[in-house]
Amino acid sequence: MPTKKTAVKETLKLTPAVEEGPYYKDGSPERKAIITKPDTPGTKLIIEGCVLDENGKPIAKAWLDFWHADGTGQYDNKGYNLRGHQYTDKDGHYHLETVRPVQYLFRAPHVHVKVQANDSAPVLTTQLFFPGEKRNTTDPIFEKGTLMEVKDVADGQLATFYFVVET
Ligand code: FE
Repeated sequence: MPTKKTAVKETLKLTPAVEEGPYYKDGSPERKAIITKPDTPGTKLIIEGCVLDENGKPIAKAWLDFWHADGTGQYDNKGYNLRGHQYTDKDGHYHLETVRPVQYLFRAPHVHVKVQANDSAPVLTTQLFFPGEKRNTTDPIFEKGTLMEVKDVADGQLATFYFVVET
């Protein structure tokens, strides 16, 4: 008699959380391009990807709130430069236009983000990191599970990251 096979349901690994840090500000404007001061220092950077559930299904209308330092390691703590929230489209896709942050204090370069699949889902707070940064090896907050894929493009860099969140 053949052994009865149990169906193994494969699920994706949830995107790991990383600490919020001291610079989150509530009430960021809704926008995909978050450079609001034209003289903001830093290499042009686009970050894009999808928000998925554990079964790999894209989540439409998921909320993402980004904030990060500029190309000199400074946060705008008075206003909302390099801060903004957006919602995924019907295919679960997001697209952020910004500048590449650099290291500050002991920190490796990173982009802070909060992601929530829907109003009743838990909020994931995490930080996205850049491959090949020296500080990735010494920053105790660094998380390899949130490393983006980054490539050079004509006018800057293009990074991709797929979030997997609880619904
Ligand atoms: Fe930070």
